[in-house]
Amino acid sequence: MSIFETLESEVRSYSRGWPVVFDRAVGSQLFAEDGTAYLDFFAGAGALNYGHNNPVLKKALIDYISRDGVTHALDMYTVAKRDFLETLNDVLLKPRDLDYKVIFPGPGGANAVEAALKLARKVTGKESVINFTNAFHGMTLGALSVTGNSMKRHGAGIPLVHATPMPYDRYFDGAYPDFLYFERLLEDSGSGLNEPAAVIVETVQGEGGINAAGLDWLQGLAELCKRHEILLIVDDVQMGCGRTGPFFSFEDAGIKPDIVCLSKSIGGYGLPLALTLIRPDLDVWEPGEHNGTFRGINPAFVTATEAMRTYWRDDELEKSTRAKGERIGAAFTEIVERYPDAELTAKGRGLARGLEFTSGELAGQVCKAAFERGLLMETSGPDSEVMKLLPPLTVSDAEVEQGLEIIGESVRSVLSK
Ligand code: PLP
Repeated sequence: MSIFETLESEVRSYSRGWPVVFDRAVGSQLFAEDGTAYLDFFAGAGALNYGHNNPVLKKALIDYISRDGVTHALDMYTVAKRDFLETLNDVLLKPRDLDYKVIFPGPGGANAVEAALKLARKVTGKESVINFTNAFHGMTLGALSVTGNSMKRHGAGIPLVHATPMPYDRYFDGAYPDFLYFERLLEDSGSGLNEPAAVIVETVQGEGGINAAGLDWLQGLAELCKRHEILLIVDDVQMGCGRTGPFFSFEDAGIKPDIVCLSKSIGGYGLPLALTLIRPDLDVWEPGEHNGTFRGINPAFVTATEAMRTYWRDDELEKSTRAKGERIGAAFTEIVERYPDAELTAKGRGLARGLEFTSGELAGQVCKAAFERGLLMETSGPDSEVMKLLPPLTVSDAEVEQGLEIIGESVRSVLSK
């Protein structure tokens, strides 16, 4: 038994599907210690949108460390943080006419969600939050309370309260008009629904099974929130930073959330960084009311700044993400049509793509077959029934084709058994 199995907790998960020891990583490839190359269509669950050890970001990081730039600074003012904030404003916020203030909530996505929920409750004086079926917002208690997955919720060990789930887009396969139930409950004083402080939503549910909400559904949700004076929180932790094409995944819907959660790829290099962006008038915190030791990881500011400068001053990455996403979507549709008896479904938007099987067992077998052929992919969805593709946005066309070939062979090997 390896040190991982003897010393590391049973809670470890990804390592179980990919039982090799990784050592090096470049672009879209991870290398095991024996030199075996794996095409990485998992990309740190969306934390590596610009690939592993991206050379431009790596250079900025090495230069910063070499000149003894500050590494840890809580929320003190630093040159690296100033560069980051100025670039965020100039490259991302101003051109999109987005007026937000920035909270550094702690290093991970769950921190960004916790800060969003706390602030929404403080601003409105209401405790209830609306979440959606199959949502995933993180593993801390507040974030778990707005998460759907029963296994993950069970891990909390206490009742998860103050959240009410509503049906996500197409939960009833179009059998009912959007928001029929939600709006009825809001308008009926006898419904028993506590007045919500906020709605929290993912534009595409990553962990929930690559469920892409329609743009009209997102617009309808934003209008409903406005009508009922409910704050709209978009959790863009997984789908932001260009995953669906534009930097913010809600841009295509033309909506402006009141609060936005970002993490994963905002640091650019796989270093921890999270942001909660808030409408300026919501900034009612007392100094230190939300705090934490790791809210100023300056090397992450440096790589985040370099990533914004390199990839978001024009729309090249956005266009190539859309084009590669469409290529993968078309390939998945072909697979669906090739195996009509298997009742597969192609899902997703941009470079967040999924192929849904009728069981978690089948999706798991396909991912295992792909791993044996040198491709890393995870499963998602309530029963892990969706094969999930999240390649780096910088993946080359040749790597996309190589990955699609492996997927085609893996699906064939499993379905023809
Ligand atoms: N929100 C969404 C939409 C996520 O996909 C995730 C993680 O997968 C999180 C929040 C939690 O982020 P973290 O794992 O960094 O706490």
